[in-house]
Amino acid sequence: MDNFINPRRVRPYKGARPDDGPVLYWMHRDFRARNNWGLIRARQEALRLRVPVAVVFCLVPEFLGATFRQYDFLLRGLEETADLLEIAGIPLILRCGAPEIEMRRLCEEHKPSLVVTDFDPLRIKRQWLRVLTESAACVVEEVDSRNIVPAWLASEHREFMARTFRPKIHRHLGEFLEPFPELAPHPFTWIVPPAGLDFLSLRARLKVDTDVPPVVWLQPGENGALATLETFFTHRLADYGQRNDPNKNVCSDLSPYLHFGMISAQAIVLELRQRGLEGEAVDDFVEELVVRRELSDNFCLHTPDYDQVSGFSPWARSTLAAHQGDPRPYLYSDEAFDRGQTHDPLWNGAQNQLVRTGKMPGYLRMYWAKKILEWTENPARALRVAIHLNDRYALDGRETNGYAGIAWSIGGVHDRGWAERPIFGTIRYMNQAGARRKFDVNRYVRTWTPGQPSLFPVPDHP
Ligand SMILES: Cc1cc2nc3c(=O)[nH]c(=O)nc-3n(C[C@H](O)[C@H](O)[C@H](O)COP(=O)(O)OP(=O)(O)OC[C@H]3O[C@@H](n4cnc5c(N)ncnc54)[C@H](O)[C@@H]3O)c2cc1C
Repeated sequence: MDNFINPRRVRPYKGARPDDGPVLYWMHRDFRARNNWGLIRARQEALRLRVPVAVVFCLVPEFLGATFRQYDFLLRGLEETADLLEIAGIPLILRCGAPEIEMRRLCEEHKPSLVVTDFDPLRIKRQWLRVLTESAACVVEEVDSRNIVPAWLASEHREFMARTFRPKIHRHLGEFLEPFPELAPHPFTWIVPPAGLDFLSLRARLKVDTDVPPVVWLQPGENGALATLETFFTHRLADYGQRNDPNKNVCSDLSPYLHFGMISAQAIVLELRQRGLEGEAVDDFVEELVVRRELSDNFCLHTPDYDQVSGFSPWARSTLAAHQGDPRPYLYSDEAFDRGQTHDPLWNGAQNQLVRTGKMPGYLRMYWAKKILEWTENPARALRVAIHLNDRYALDGRETNGYAGIAWSIGGVHDRGWAERPIFGTIRYMNQAGARRKFDVNRYVRTWTPGQPSLFPVPDHP
């Protein structure tokens, strides 16, 4: 059991297998030392070959519009992970630049027996992997540590909706929802630890937008993730059924951690079971954490244009095209959206909460994106604006959940057709009357109206 990993979690790419070089684990999605199948696999192979193992992180100074807020969260968390790795005798090599090129250089320097890396369906990550597998002399393995059921096994095609995907996930849980081995100290250490940068010089190389500051209400890293999980289990999970009310603080706040892989969704489900937590609220939470979350990876894996209108289903594209010429009651510039300066106080409040805290409640995310569709000239611009704002301000941006959530809101992905109406066609519509039926909109607007003094930092929660 000590180092067991189900081989079906691993996808090998061919290469020669010299067996005297070290093992490198290139971490670019699952930034954690605990409960990480990629790291477990790398260490398992290093043990078998009796060689050292190292983790590699390569900082990309500019990445898909990420700002200082997200980089700071990632780097502070990673410093903590470096300490945990050190206890296990595993160095963290820090590099900066184009990761596929830095990885090639590292492979030339260290002649590894094996490179293990994280699975990620985003286009840029598929491209990194392609370059690495073409250039590396050794075997490269991809491990899915983000999903409980490896995305390539869960389904071979893009799923129509959660209803079609759910049974596939549940069918595989018996095999994949297994406990993690502890990360024991690795016995084969480096004679000379590999050279790299330190965190300070890494930060100095960032070329990012510093107008979006870090958040202070959430502590980055693996320990912050565990503390957030504990608070959620103890104080909020029982009321999770009320999650559509953004005035109530019942959601987990785990998405920034899950996005950066600072906590494992599988470990969360195992912890729920270990504590004997069950009931409707728990089932609802697991549905979001497992089925919906893994469905997003399925969407991006099987839809290379996941951030384009061409990634919508034919029925959605055709209904949106049929309503392309409909008059729009309001049209806003990118700047007006960014500053939360629309005619709608609820939308402005939601945007303001996102800007200030890096988070927007799930229900409002849907409303927010649908209104962007209503107030832009066409769905392509709506998609661009929503992705840009989400990725600029949200701590959990650039995530498959984000691309799927925005495509759901604007392009009916994973949804069905509804009653036809202007602009939206048969894409599901949302309005303020619906929001008022669910929660006290005035109270939310009072809390989050832009321009109010010192809402940030927020004492207990956004
Ligand atoms: C327009 C739009 C944009 C979104 N952008 C993002 C994004 O950038 N990053 C992101 O992680 N999520 C995104 N979501 C999905 C969802 O809104 C967030 O995951 C959730 O609000 C995060 O808060 P939480 O962790 O407190 O959620 P909780 O309700 O506590 O859920 C626990 C976890 O389940 C997963 N989850 C919850 N809801 C969904 C969902 N609808 N789809 C997929 N997984 C889900 C998340 O990993 C979340 O952390 C978006 C949804 C929409 C409609």
